Parts: sequence; C-alpha cells; structure tokens
Amino acid sequence: MIRNIQTIIPGIATSDGAGVKLRRSIGGQNQVRLDPFLMLDEFSSNDPNDYVAGFPAHPHRGFETVTYMLEGHMLHEDHLGNQGHLKTGGVQWMTAGRGIIHSEMPQQVSGAMRGFQLWINLPAKEKMKPAGYQDIQVEDIPQIALSNGGSVKIIAGAYENEGTVVSGPIQGITTAPLFLDVHLPPNAEFEQSIPKELNAFVYMYEGDLELGAPKQAAPKQAAIVLGNGDRLKVLSGAAGAQFIVLAGLPLNEPIVQYGPFVMNTRAEIEQAVDDYQNNRFVIA
Ligand code: MN
Repeated sequence: MIRNIQTIIPGIATSDGAGVKLRRSIGGQNQVRLDPFLMLDEFSSNDPNDYVAGFPAHPHRGFETVTYMLEGHMLHEDHLGNQGHLKTGGVQWMTAGRGIIHSEMPQQVSGAMRGFQLWINLPAKEKMKPAGYQDIQVEDIPQIALSNGGSVKIIAGAYENEGTVVSGPIQGITTAPLFLDVHLPPNAEFEQSIPKELNAFVYMYEGDLELGAPKQAAPKQAAIVLGNGDRLKVLSGAAGAQFIVLAGLPLNEPIVQYGPFVMNTRAEIEQAVDDYQNNRFVIA
C-alpha cells in the first residue's frame, strides 16, 4: 500500500545558537513532533552573517543529533577533547546519552552553508548511556545511481526497491532509522519500501514533487508526514526534485523537554539541570 500525505508541518524561519538562521519544521511551533523524531532544522544561506557565529558550547542529554552537510564545513568539539571536521556531504551522528557539552562551528567565512540537523529520541533505557558519535565523510556514504538518471545517498537504514537492497553506514539503532537523500531529474519516479510500523516523513529542499496514490502536490521546505502503508512513491516535476526521506520506530514513551534536555519525567529534567549547573553533567 502506497503511503499518502497525512499532515504537513511547515518549516518556520527562526534562529538558534548564536543567531544562526534556520527553518524548523518538526519540533517548531507547539513542539509538534513525529515520534521518534523530535526536531528537524534546515539551515541554508549564502550570507555568512546568517551562520558564521555558529553554535558555541551547549549541552545535550537524552537523545541523538544528526547533522548532514549539503554545502560548507562544520567543526565539532566536545568537553572530552574530541574533535570532528564535517565536510560537504558528510554526516555526524551524535548520541548525547547522559550528556555531552559541545560546540558546532562553521569553518568558513564566505560562501554557502546548507544542511540539516535532526534530533532523534532515545528510549528511556538508553537515555543515560555514555555519549558517543560517528563522523561519516562523504566517501563512506553509499550512493546509488537510479536507471532514470537520479541518485540516492544512503545515510541510515537501507535503500530497498524491487529486490535491490543497499545499506548505509548507520545501523543497529533501537529506533531503526532510515535516512536517504534522493535527487531526481525532471519527471522521474522513485519508490522505497518503508515498513508499516515506522513513522515516516519526506522533506523536499529543491524542485517540485508529487507524492502518494493518487498523487498530491508536496510543499517545499516542510516535513511531509506520511500516512499508513508500506511504500513511498513519488514523481518529480519539471524542475526535478531533491528531498530527504526519514523513518523510524516510534518509542511511545512520555516526553518532557527543556531545551536541549529530552527525558521522560519532570524529575529527570530537574536532575539534568542540576547536574549541568553543578558540573556533574558529563561524569562517566
Ligand atoms: Mn548541539
């Protein structure tokens, strides 16, 4: 069964960090979420004033952040002295677990900066595990060529269509995330298996697209939440289309969020604030 459009969560212009301009869809107005996804930001600018101040040192607890750079570079440094230089096309998959204090700073003073940051919740039993992260450079992300001239990058989970299965570098996560970046030429179809137990959405950042059966026009720069079914089917328009596909297993657990802390109870949030204020945040 083909999944149709269920809800649209528009990307609303806002800023975060030290004034980085971005568009927030999931996790934006009224903190509308799609379990297990807590937030999706798209940052996109040719003007360094919109991004160069970056995200100075800040904490996270209880979830994962995934940063995908379409253009530009980002340097990540954490409280343990770890450092990662994320280049164009690369992904950082950061598991905050019990706590990380890090900075995310653009490494350029001119040119375009474009990408996404996605927040994925952790199950209650994993929220206090030690922090860790994986920096995946562009050459380690499988890319397949479609027969219609399109291409698919597989960041997490697997591309699955008509017997072809290609797995991405991120595997073994409890929420079983799927993360694809799909580029289609004009008037091209794309299909992908998305098991019915996963919540899923598409975010189109270039071009135009129709989705579902019967086809419906999909808005640009919005989280397009998909309804019931086990398959995604899209058709690009005259300008082609570039979009990401995200899916994951819902956790169905209570969420209490206070900024960069996402736990299950208010007491756990109070503990996180107390730990942070008293330098107990990141003790292993
Ligand atoms: Mn961060």
